[in-house]
Amino acid sequence: MKFAEYRGKRIAASPGFIGATCPCCKTEVIPRCGKKVAHHWAHKNKSQCDNWWEPHSDWSLSWQEKFEVELQEPVITRGQETHFASIKTKNNTIVQIRQRLTPKIIEEQEKFFQTLVWIVNAGRHKHDSSRLIQAFRKRTIVKLVAASKNETFRPYIVKAKDAEKIFRKEWLVARFPMLLDYSTSKITTGGKYTYIVDYVWCLFPLKVNGYRVLLRYEKEEVIAKLMRRKGKTKEQIWKLKAFFEKRLFNL
Ligand SMILES: [Zn+2]
Repeated sequence: MKFAEYRGKRIAASPGFIGATCPCCKTEVIPRCGKKVAHHWAHKNKSQCDNWWEPHSDWSLSWQEKFEVELQEPVITRGQETHFASIKTKNNTIVQIRQRLTPKIIEEQEKFFQTLVWIVNAGRHKHDSSRLIQAFRKRTIVKLVAASKNETFRPYIVKAKDAEKIFRKEWLVARFPMLLDYSTSKITTGGKYTYIVDYVWCLFPLKVNGYRVLLRYEKEEVIAKLMRRKGKTKEQIWKLKAFFEKRLFNL
């Protein structure tokens, strides 16, 4: 973890520091300040108290550090359960920045965090990026030009059936927005479509009139948007479905 507690304050790891505790389980932690991995704290007597914990990578830190320090790595408690989140904004959006997801992780965490947005490293497997690029090339994913009245609203649609061939199953079962960051992809074979992987694609978590909706963002834009956005529950996400039906399909 990046922050430990000491006398009621959050502190970053520094060499030789003694007496800090884990904000989640309250046991003692020790600083790890080597050269290879970013400075962090480790539990003194156990591996990790939070079984949802995912070790940081350069990629996850590159996202997390875009947010103010106070918003990073909050500890969230509901009833008897306590977990770390990646980010909690002032407007109560909880952002989980994840290298890997499974349907089980998604189900458990969506239930617990309640006002979630996922950021996923979608560029880890080359074929995921290839399939995305291929979908643009074949025009399976199309831009809704008429609906994008302003510069920042850029909706794209893909038939729900086709989406299953492009996106991982776990991304499609999420019930909160899934921000797919393909930028880690090493793909160079997309020709004129290679730029597609430089964007972050927000997959709307519900079918809208038989389609899945994607919104296109630049990474910097995503941070600003998440900071402004009000945390939405599952029910509020459902209301967005009606908004998209009206706005994109005039239903
Ligand atoms: Zn702990």
